[in-house]
Amino acid sequence: MDIRAQVAMVFHLDKCIGCHTCSVSCKNVWTDRPGAEYMWWNNVETKPGTGYPTLWEDQGHYKGGWKVNGNGSGNGNGKKLSLRSQNKLDAFIKLFYNPNQPGLEDYYEPWTYKYQDLFDAPAGDDQPTAIAISQVTGEPMAIEAGPNWDDDLSGTTLYAENDVNLEGLSDEERDQLFEIQRVSMFYLPRICNHCANPSCVASCPSGALYKRGEDGIVLINQEVCKGWRACVAACPYKKIYYNWKTGKSEKCILCYPKLETGQIPNCFHSCVGRIRYLGVLLYDADRVADAMTVNDRALVESQRSILCDPYDPKVVELAKANGISDEFIDAAQKSPVYKYVMKWKLALPLHIEYRTMPMLFYVPPLLPVMGKLDNGRYENIMDGFFTSLEQSRLPMKYLAKMFSAGNEEIIESVMKKLMAVRYYKRSLELDDLDLVSISRMMREGNLTPEEAEEIYALTALPTTYDRYVLPPIQREEAISGTCSPELCKGECGLSFSESAKRGL
Ligand code: SF4
Ligand code: SF4
Repeated sequence: MDIRAQVAMVFHLDKCIGCHTCSVSCKNVWTDRPGAEYMWWNNVETKPGTGYPTLWEDQGHYKGGWKVNGNGSGNGNGKKLSLRSQNKLDAFIKLFYNPNQPGLEDYYEPWTYKYQDLFDAPAGDDQPTAIAISQVTGEPMAIEAGPNWDDDLSGTTLYAENDVNLEGLSDEERDQLFEIQRVSMFYLPRICNHCANPSCVASCPSGALYKRGEDGIVLINQEVCKGWRACVAACPYKKIYYNWKTGKSEKCILCYPKLETGQIPNCFHSCVGRIRYLGVLLYDADRVADAMTVNDRALVESQRSILCDPYDPKVVELAKANGISDEFIDAAQKSPVYKYVMKWKLALPLHIEYRTMPMLFYVPPLLPVMGKLDNGRYENIMDGFFTSLEQSRLPMKYLAKMFSAGNEEIIESVMKKLMAVRYYKRSLELDDLDLVSISRMMREGNLTPEEAEEIYALTALPTTYDRYVLPPIQREEAISGTCSPELCKGECGLSFSESAKRGL
């Protein structure tokens, strides 16, 4: 076992109000520069929808992440991973032309307004207007797309219906989803997942990308980056951006200068809905590549299997032997992320089938599901309380495609638990649920009253210190991000380890 520490994240989607404050606070600090105008290291999408860049989840087109090959070199199950974006034969050619790279048209052409016209316009009968000016060419432009172009437009034929996650839904299910009476949506805030098996790191021909050994943050060394953009193609989440002014690639840095001084990343700090949680996870780096070679339906459980119990004395001993400090181990034991991901199994990775092992987890939204289940009348819930999940407003199949690689059982178990918490708490306040129904709910939701109280407290009443359990991070304690070459044989995203030693 090679125990590593990761600063990991949970976003609770029922709490997101789609205000975009997180995006703006990130932009003001990190991407308010020439060449970075079109970049949104943090963006918030409406789901169902096409997202930013447009249709980023269509890996048939973008070819990001990892694929599994049958005849592996022995990662336990005889299978191995290889990048979808490039192979040994075409990696060189794709340095010069990669047909799967997103272009500016896939993001949007950034613009500003000619505000001076508002002051300088000659007197006339009409109000002066500020025309849109391209931030790329400096010329007037017609605005045809933007980063939140399909914001709140779920149900529209142009955007929501093109959502890649709707593949596999029958015509009837689609019709139901877009019926005006039951149109439903949720917000999906996204940042770099600081993956445990980052395909961006593995793709870089210059070795400019690296994963910090001490906290798992994935960074690009700007002095080493040659602007090949292999990482832009390889990241399936499209969370690496090419700066057209500097000729280098850039990405979310999880505000590491703030973390190193005990502060919270900007997007977390400014989050109006308080949906974001930050904490440490301990994981076994030796098993990362192996864990991501299992079949799609088993991926969520496989990722869980490499996340370690921070109270296990053996894990603690090995973590210490790897240079992980007592403060980090203490933070891992108090981690809100560990509770959501491992203890309650409520938070799931986004598109685990890309096999990068994201370290940002999402509690899927219950409210758009319940909108239909409820049917406006509470007593309807009682008949077939849990079986009625099949009738939910947002199909389980759709949520499963996003959060459990198509495994509907996992999504259903999360929904059952979330519903059970909700109705358990309701039963304490209102006298409209009989004891038999409550105990059935708790049983089917695999929930105890103590656990329900804990989940409720961390979801609805957490203080800043409950949401962010941060260890002190000091660069002088930097740990190499090297994987174990004998075990991995270059088939995981940690293998470009030398660049870690050139750290920022
Ligand atoms: S592959 Fe993962 S770590 Fe790399 S940029 Fe994409 S989301 Fe971030
Ligand atoms: S600030 Fe928080 S609530 Fe607002 S959009 Fe961002 S994640 Fe959602």
